[in-house]
Amino acid sequence: MKPKSYVGRFAPSPSGPLHYGSLVAATASYLQAKHNNGKWLLRIEDIDPPREVPGAADDILKTLEHFQFEWDETPLYQSTRHKQYRTHLNSLLHDDKAYACSCSRKDLINDVQKSPLGKRYPGTCANRKLDTTNYTDFNLRLRVKNKIVSFCDRTYGELQHNLQKEIGDIILYRKFNLPSYALAVTVDDAYQEITEVVRGYDLLAFTPIQIYLCQLLNFPTPNFLHVPIIVNKQEQKLSKQTGAAAITMQYRCRTLLIVLKDLGQTISKQLEVDILNNNDLTELWRWAIEHWHADSIPKTNHIYMS
Ligand code: GLU
Repeated sequence: MKPKSYVGRFAPSPSGPLHYGSLVAATASYLQAKHNNGKWLLRIEDIDPPREVPGAADDILKTLEHFQFEWDETPLYQSTRHKQYRTHLNSLLHDDKAYACSCSRKDLINDVQKSPLGKRYPGTCANRKLDTTNYTDFNLRLRVKNKIVSFCDRTYGELQHNLQKEIGDIILYRKFNLPSYALAVTVDDAYQEITEVVRGYDLLAFTPIQIYLCQLLNFPTPNFLHVPIIVNKQEQKLSKQTGAAAITMQYRCRTLLIVLKDLGQTISKQLEVDILNNNDLTELWRWAIEHWHADSIPKTNHIYMS
């Protein structure tokens, strides 16, 4: 059988302009797709209205364009996909793989255990069989099993997690119709036929859930490659909340050279001098696509912004 051709993606949330940390994730996914002669798709993850900044999606696209990223299809906006998320949620509810939960945050203050995703829900509502006809009144949770999910991340190697013991019944849909990242990312990676997910280390903890959801929804499971996140001096992930600066359009070659080095790529002094002297971004991309080495990505969780 002919191997499936590579399809990669970059999926920014429009919570602010593109910052250096997102540029690193974008570059890694782009080079991995283009080096493998694949397609590279964009998805705007705009399903969390309170965290969105008006104009941020356009601003991110403009910055990517200015950096000469070339995407192969029209970007997909998650805000246009609510119907599909609900369809898949309904099938999980129908198969008793998801349930309604009436616990408020206050109810959970005392007995919530830690998980890599923040807090592990103790399962209070798992067997209450709340009526889901009017499910906008409740959070809807995935019913996870006492099951180990194993996978091999291209950067961090073999990993395994017990869904029930370590992660718990995560929220798939929040009250008032807000799909969660876990559900939307799984549905959309399948819809866009993504063969390998390249994203930041902070999302590695979601991977067992994404794999489990793929199994429940009969989707093919993509491969995964996580890259270290970029942190500031206080070891906080660069983000709008931690005051990360927007990428400036000036010094694009210099910025991209730093990104490549942070991603562990070896660039000769001579090449660097030539690129900078000629300010030749096209040549830098050509070189980077040809010489991309995913195995050289540092296997650390984070990298300090230089
Ligand atoms: N939207 C997420 C973010 O901006 C990335 C999601 C993903 O790549 O799976 O951090």
